[in-house]
Amino acid sequence: MTALLRVEDLRVRFRTMGPLKALATGTKAPFIDAVCGVSFEIRKGETLALVGESGSGKSTIARTIIGLQRAVSGSICFDGQEIEELSGTERKPYLRRMAMMFQDPVGSLSPRLTVRSLLTEPFRIHGIKRRDAGGEAERLLRLVGLPADFARRYPHQLSGGQARRIGIARALALNPDLIIADEPTAGLDVSVQGEVLNLLARLQDELGMAILIITHNLNVVRHMTDRMAIMYLGRFIEVGSTERIFDQPRHPYTEALLAANPEPDPDAVLNRIELKGEVPSLLRRPSGCEFHTRCRYAQDLCSRVFPEPSTNPNDAEHNFRCHFPLKGEIVSGLMLSHPVSVGTERS
Ligand code: SF4
Repeated sequence: MTALLRVEDLRVRFRTMGPLKALATGTKAPFIDAVCGVSFEIRKGETLALVGESGSGKSTIARTIIGLQRAVSGSICFDGQEIEELSGTERKPYLRRMAMMFQDPVGSLSPRLTVRSLLTEPFRIHGIKRRDAGGEAERLLRLVGLPADFARRYPHQLSGGQARRIGIARALALNPDLIIADEPTAGLDVSVQGEVLNLLARLQDELGMAILIITHNLNVVRHMTDRMAIMYLGRFIEVGSTERIFDQPRHPYTEALLAANPEPDPDAVLNRIELKGEVPSLLRRPSGCEFHTRCRYAQDLCSRVFPEPSTNPNDAEHNFRCHFPLKGEIVSGLMLSHPVSVGTERS
């Protein structure tokens, strides 16, 4: 399948203080690296998840792709065109082919606009004239299963699920090739979450767009995505097909995330793995493997040497960064891990 979006060695840095304050306080590096050399691609019609705890850099990647944040280096190539080097005006035709669904379904909709104005706003923003704006709003409402009279409502008159549907309809307004969905089920009841995910899956089948999902909800990942990337402190630490990673995670952090995930099957037995401590500060990254301060398998080598990416010998698309990768399997919700041998795979 052809890559629709290819991101290579992306780096995003934030200043923590102004240059004068840095000079006055003698701070040598007044910035944090929020995204450190991330590479991935999304193929046409595919769904990829970026997974990780808050602050892992997943939303920063999304904001950089759609131009709300500039990268310090790296490449973002959309449908064969490098967009990082384009000016704002040159980028517009490419940005029009991407749409973002923001996290807060109600808060992301302007409270002063009716649903009709909200749905036709993307046309105005991109300077596209529509003679029949009302008809366009009706078409979009139909797409997401809402009646035409919703066009007269205001955001405060919508439930969370309805607001999320309006967010999806708005994202679809310009027939994008890529939708970036930031926590598409956040703040919704479990039953409404299912409806929203089914709607997204149906629309993807019908319209064929690719979806980049940003989430920490592993049930969403399992049911919606083809591939997933696990992030920790701005880096990918495991990437592969969703099926492969759920069945056989190789990185201890992935193992802990999967083991902590509530199983939909009430009879399943969960072997929870407690993650030690807090996520380290981006201002003070641990040496060696940055996960070593929380890893239950950490050995001396881990705190000294940064692990380079390894590839699963049985799956060239499954990559991970760990000196002692797991050879785990999940049996009916019970994850079995095996003892560690130094410098080799656990077996
Ligand atoms: Fe754990 Fe060491 Fe692997 Fe890092 S390299 S995840 S500390 S076993």
